[in-house]
Amino acid sequence: MSQYWSFLVNRLTPYVPGEQPKLPKLVKLNTNENPYPPSPHVVAAIADELADGGQLLRLYPDPNADRLKEAIAARYAGFGITAQQVFVGNGSDEVLAHVFMALLKHERPILFPDITYSFYPVYCGLHDVAWETVPLDEHFQIRIDDYARPNGGIIFPNPNAPTGCRLPLEAIERLLMAHGQSVVVVDEAYVDFGGEAGDECGAEGGNESGNHSAIALVNRHPNLLVVHTLSKSRSLAGLRVGYAVGDSDLIEALERVKNSFNSYPLDRLAIAGAVAAMADEEHFETTRQAIIKSREALRSALLALAFEVLPSAANFIFVRHPQRDAGDLAAALRSRGIIVRHFRLPRIDQHLRITIGTDEQCALLVEALREILA
Ligand SMILES: *Cc1c(COP(=O)(O)O)cnc(C)c1O
Repeated sequence: MSQYWSFLVNRLTPYVPGEQPKLPKLVKLNTNENPYPPSPHVVAAIADELADGGQLLRLYPDPNADRLKEAIAARYAGFGITAQQVFVGNGSDEVLAHVFMALLKHERPILFPDITYSFYPVYCGLHDVAWETVPLDEHFQIRIDDYARPNGGIIFPNPNAPTGCRLPLEAIERLLMAHGQSVVVVDEAYVDFGGEAGDECGAEGGNESGNHSAIALVNRHPNLLVVHTLSKSRSLAGLRVGYAVGDSDLIEALERVKNSFNSYPLDRLAIAGAVAAMADEEHFETTRQAIIKSREALRSALLALAFEVLPSAANFIFVRHPQRDAGDLAAALRSRGIIVRHFRLPRIDQHLRITIGTDEQCALLVEALREILA
C-alpha cells in the first residue's frame, strides 16, 4: 500500500500464475505448457523477420496483424470464418481482459462456474464487473440448466480448467439459445486436446467426434465469442499470442477497446511466428496426438496407483488420492524435482492438476508417486 496508489489499485487482487522456476532441471508439470517444441516453420519465420541485422525491428508492426487474422480465418474456413470475425491479442489473457471490458460489463452480474480459471474474478475486479458463480455438479461438470437466470454474460473454459471436463457442443448450443440477450464466451484454451470419446465427466452426453470447437457455431449465434491461445496446443506460451472468433460486431467492440489501450499488442516476431504456427497442420496434429496418447497412458498409470482421475479432454489431468493430502503430495513431488499445481481453494484443495509432459517426464512422475505412496 502506498499513498501514491490509485483507488483501483488498492482494491485489486491480482492473479497468481503457476511458478516459473529458475532451476533448469525440474520436471515442470504445473502450467500446462506443451512439452514439444513449436513447428520448425515458426522458428524459420521468426529468423526471417530478424534478417539483415534486424532491420525490420526499426519499424512498428502491423497494428491490425492482418496476416495473422487471415491465417486464423483460413484455418477455420471450413466453418465460413472470415478475417473480420477474428480478433488477436498478446496472449489470450489479454484478449480476455478486453472481453470483460468490451462485452461482459453490464448492469447484471456475469456468470461463471465456481471451479474454473481463476483469472475471471480478477478481471471482474479490474474492470468492476459484478459476478456470480454457478457450482459445478458432483461430477465437476457444468450443468447448463443451472445458468437459467438473468445475467450480464456467461464465461467458462471448455474443456474447463482445472478439471479437464468437456461440455459437448449440443450443450453449448442450448446455452446460446437460452441466453440470446447475453454474450456467451467459450474459452477454448484446451479444445485441441479433446479425445474422440469418453471425455465427458458428467452424464450430459454427446459424442461428436473430431471437431470440438464452438467456432463451428459462430455463424449461427451472434452472441458467441470463442477464445483460443497458441500457448498450449501450438507450443508458443513464450510468444504470447491469443485470439477470439465471433460475430464481426463483437470483434469491433474488442477492437475499440484494444485501440484505446495499445495499438501494437502483437510484435513483429509474434505475428510472423503465429502465422507460421497456424499454417503447420501436420506438426500440430502430430504433437496433439502424442499428448492425447500420453494423457491416456498417464491416466491408467495413476488409476493403478489408486488415484481418482477425472476424464480429461485437455493437456492436463485432475487427480486426487483418497488417502493422501494433496498439499503433502505436491510438496513431496517438489522435493524430487517435479512440480505440479495445487490450488488451495474450496472443493478442490485435495486435488492436483498435472500437465501432460513427454512420456519420459510422465514416467518420472509415476515413479516418484510410487515411491511417495509406498
Ligand atoms: C492458459 C489459459 C489461458 C491463457 O493463455 P495465454 O494465451 O497464454 O494468455 C486462458 N484461459 C485458460 C482457461 C487457460 O488455461
